[in-house]
Amino acid sequence: MDREIEDIFALETKRQNEGIELICSENYPSKETRLAMSSIMVAKYAEGFPGHRYYGGCEFIDRCENLCIERLKALFGAKFANVQPHSGSQANFAAYHALINPGETVLSLELNDGGHLTHGSPVSFSSQMYHFVHYPLGEDAHLDYGIVEKCLDEYDPNLFLAGYSAYPYAIDFKRMRELIDEHNAHSSTHCLFMVDMAHIAGIIAAGYCQNPCDYADLVTSTTHKTLRGPRGGVILTNDPDIAKRVDKAVFPYSQGGPLENIIAAKAVAFREDAEPSFKTYIKKVLDNTKACNDELAHLGATVSGTDNHLFLLNVLKTYGITGKEAQLKLESVGVTTNKNMIHGDTLKPAEASGVRIGFAAVTTRGCTKEQAVEIADLIDGVLKDEPLDVAYYSLRVKAIASTWKDVAELSF
Ligand SMILES: *Cc1c(COP(=O)(O)O)cnc(C)c1O
Repeated sequence: MDREIEDIFALETKRQNEGIELICSENYPSKETRLAMSSIMVAKYAEGFPGHRYYGGCEFIDRCENLCIERLKALFGAKFANVQPHSGSQANFAAYHALINPGETVLSLELNDGGHLTHGSPVSFSSQMYHFVHYPLGEDAHLDYGIVEKCLDEYDPNLFLAGYSAYPYAIDFKRMRELIDEHNAHSSTHCLFMVDMAHIAGIIAAGYCQNPCDYADLVTSTTHKTLRGPRGGVILTNDPDIAKRVDKAVFPYSQGGPLENIIAAKAVAFREDAEPSFKTYIKKVLDNTKACNDELAHLGATVSGTDNHLFLLNVLKTYGITGKEAQLKLESVGVTTNKNMIHGDTLKPAEASGVRIGFAAVTTRGCTKEQAVEIADLIDGVLKDEPLDVAYYSLRVKAIASTWKDVAELSF
């Protein structure tokens, strides 16, 4: 095909195969899912929704999108689903429009405590279109439902938002629902409850944590993180009126033609996510994440602990270096992570005091619990050693990665 692009593909494939991918928002879709992405479904324009399209020739596209919707609804036990959002951010953009008016108040987690850009960051559309206020975590960096309750009463928001990008602990959605109901009982503003489950959707699908679809008015997600699907977004709800507003907010308000090849790939992934083997996979992710966290703690590092697929390592406190320096050091030997703010961080986001570490991607490739422990020792060595023996650690990284499956050959 295109020689220049092909050369780049070869380099990226090699990088992925030889490295240890610990960025917790990443994962490898199955071969079957990738095949659907490159299918001829890409060539069809299908503005609108199944049964109500602006173009002709949508008979089979409709069947595919309907199948995708049904599989997603079954996976999370929800009554309505929209599978068209091009990404998690697009899903959130549409969700806000469906739920509230411009200028209304959204109560979301403090961004430095693990919120997402679209949860009210000054550089995102969200803070320009809506009035964002924030609830902090408690002193122990866990959600404090007493603080949530106080903030609901103090800010009287139109929307309460839960679901995060860098929160390693379980979330009690049921408790949040109760607090919002109690608040609504004595407030003149009716507060709606939205959950962005982008990171933990796979864990929810596997049944290892509370399902927000049972409690929230609306739930958004990405499909490419723990769900192992194509890069994309979805929106779920049990409320027929909200469902209608969601559809309008996705098309025609914020998007044009849906990516039907990606929708086909979402359908393939959702079928895989419903298999017993997916449950086994998620259990391994949880075990590996905990094994790495615990080994680092054993070695004397300050780590967050974990109930899910990620944890935070405080590199400033442990090794006296910034998150940015730690990320670069690890990258120089083939271990990919990202710098991250720690609760109560004193450094700027561009430096940060921690790194965020996740095991969804490497577990897909076959990482064992013993290797998760070995990876902890490796991380500790890399961040401690000065000067860093790049050649030695690179070899160790390659040796571990060479025992795993080829990223292009992964099935489910
Ligand atoms: C990753 C993420 C998103 C955004 O997903 P994109 O597909 O990158 O737009 C939204 N919300 C949360 C909580 C996320 O972690």
